[in-house]
Amino acid sequence: MIVKRSDLSWLERLYLPTLWSGLKVTFRHFFNTLFRGKVVTMEYPEQKWVVPTGYRGAPYLVKDQEGRTKCVSCQLCEFVCPPKAIKITPPGPKPNAAVGNVEKTPQEFEINMLRCIFCGFCQEVCPEEAIFLMSDYSLTGTSRKEMVYNKAKLLSLGGVHNDPIMKWKQKQKEAQQQEAFKPL
Ligand code: SF4
Ligand code: SF4
Repeated sequence: MIVKRSDLSWLERLYLPTLWSGLKVTFRHFFNTLFRGKVVTMEYPEQKWVVPTGYRGAPYLVKDQEGRTKCVSCQLCEFVCPPKAIKITPPGPKPNAAVGNVEKTPQEFEINMLRCIFCGFCQEVCPEEAIFLMSDYSLTGTSRKEMVYNKAKLLSLGGVHNDPIMKWKQKQKEAQQQEAFKPL
């Protein structure tokens, strides 16, 4: 479909009104900074912007208060991620003795931060509350490879998320009860 552009009027062709409205904004900020002390810029990166509550920055993985990786490798986040920034390597059939084989944990979990658009779909879809968008907005690296964050890095950046439900404990208790059960 071809959209025809409307012809500019002689005033629009002068471009002066448009230039003037842009300059008005510049002069307003100039005046406010000089005489009213209203600074609208900051000396980044020496000065950092303090993000408001609820800001959605980079997504990181979290552990619970017992140091367990909350992610159970269900791969829902990998499926919903619009730019396909998440790559999960499932644990495979081998049981993980370190976590009592109660749940699966991913063998590897990577997020390509060059692709991530901080949309928050991964956080929304996660059934385990294992991935959260944190307040980091300025991610830098010297190579593309460096911008692919692996599981260890995502977990160290995500830190501990206090989990009041403690699903692991309940599951472990149930498993122990089953083992101890002796039919009459
Ligand atoms: S925030 Fe969005 S783009 Fe980034 S990893 Fe999560 S789902 Fe993908
Ligand atoms: S982060 Fe959540 S949604 Fe993604 S694989 Fe782990 S448990 Fe599933």
